[in-house]
Amino acid sequence: MRLSVIGCGYLGAVHAAAMASIGHEVVGIDVDARKIDALSKGDAPFFEPGLQEILTDGIRSGRLSFTTDISAAAGAKVHFIGVGTPQQVGAHAADLTYVNAAVDSLLPHLSDGDIVAGKSTVPVGTAAELADRVAASGATLVWNPEFLREGWAVQDTIDPDRLVAGVPAGAEGERAAEVLREVYHPAVAKGTPFIVTDYATAELVKVAANAFLATKISFINAMAEIAEVTGADVTQLADAIGHDARIGRRFLGAGIGFGGGCLPKDIRAFAARAEELGRGESVGFLREVDAINLRRRDRAVQLVIEALGGSVVDKKVAVLGAAFKPHSDDVRDSPALDVAVRLNGLGAKVVVTDPQAIENARRVHPQLNYLTERDEAIRDADAIVLVTEWDEYRRELSPDHASTLTAGRAVVDGRNGLDAAAWRAAGWAYYGMGRP
Ligand code: NAD
Repeated sequence: MRLSVIGCGYLGAVHAAAMASIGHEVVGIDVDARKIDALSKGDAPFFEPGLQEILTDGIRSGRLSFTTDISAAAGAKVHFIGVGTPQQVGAHAADLTYVNAAVDSLLPHLSDGDIVAGKSTVPVGTAAELADRVAASGATLVWNPEFLREGWAVQDTIDPDRLVAGVPAGAEGERAAEVLREVYHPAVAKGTPFIVTDYATAELVKVAANAFLATKISFINAMAEIAEVTGADVTQLADAIGHDARIGRRFLGAGIGFGGGCLPKDIRAFAARAEELGRGESVGFLREVDAINLRRRDRAVQLVIEALGGSVVDKKVAVLGAAFKPHSDDVRDSPALDVAVRLNGLGAKVVVTDPQAIENARRVHPQLNYLTERDEAIRDADAIVLVTEWDEYRRELSPDHASTLTAGRAVVDGRNGLDAAAWRAAGWAYYGMGRP
């Protein structure tokens, strides 16, 4: 099927390449000429495992192309909208400027029977507002939220755990759902749940899923705060409650909390939208979820100060990680980078290292020192802080090896990812999050 994907960022570039990899003919469109240049040459403009391969294959096969020219969307049967919906400046609501601009630029190139499939995460009610404009061009609007996880985006796009389509009522909606089933044929054929619903439900499914995940993380981080004043160990607590199948152990890793381009802005936008709908109190807990999450960064900084005897001034601190999570180079609202920036602001000599995210981190925080090599970063450090759980730090850095490089023997484990007993046995002062 011929498809267009408008917006080629973390979501759109992966979507375009993944759709080509399952046999569609895809044109990816973006207003960012540099990104389109890179993608056209087959260079992934960001780090995402597996993307480079399907990008190269897609371009070589002739089924995948990229352009800044929106008129190239003409002739495609389904047009995916994957542009950004960031937090508004100075407010918590989502900024819909890019979604509106993308839809407006697409309208003149639509034909009767086309489908416009919104994938961006939007406040509930957005699709209903856009639907008439799209219908006036003879096309049908569906909302097809995206649940991919950065770091697993290729796999999640090709083989998602569920597909959701918000469609208009009646035959038009049924036909649109049928076309989406064709688009996602390999997943549909293997029995992946395909939920066809109305616009509002589809939009809400996405924000509800993110709100739930954020709440689960902040719940365990709240338990970590209690553990810290009682001498309990939150990791054992998480193991123990996680054995209850109704609770589950996943997403119960206490640490410096969530970040990235989705969870933080999505829960804020959800709370803002609920306020507009007169139901602010229904998701009032999301403000608490956000507050707990942000407090954990303070805690990590406090632990570094404690580990260094009360002051970080002129102490060399090696910060392991900049990306908001491993297997990604995304530093948007990264707790890791935030901790580094705060320590730097307190007068520490901070050196940040990350296997993939240094370039992006340097762009937003040029004031920090960056080193690509982990061992160079920890050389002569007074303290090490683990903030992104890359295997290079979590599994592959042994305390004995670290001891041969550092000046001090203090490690702050902002992700509870290290083997505390092993580090202590090697003579290190180990500080975890919510652990004695
Ligand atoms: P991103 O910032 O990486 O990409 C957005 C892209 O849209 C940019 O390349 C930008 O240049 C382009 N763009 C902006 N206006 C445009 C226009 N008028 N026409 C064409 N292109 C335009 O953002 P992202 O992380 O890919 O997120 C996109 C959307 O998907 C957001 O709503 C986000 O919440 C949602 N989402 C993201 C993820 C994720 O893991 N990144 C997962 C699920 C949902």
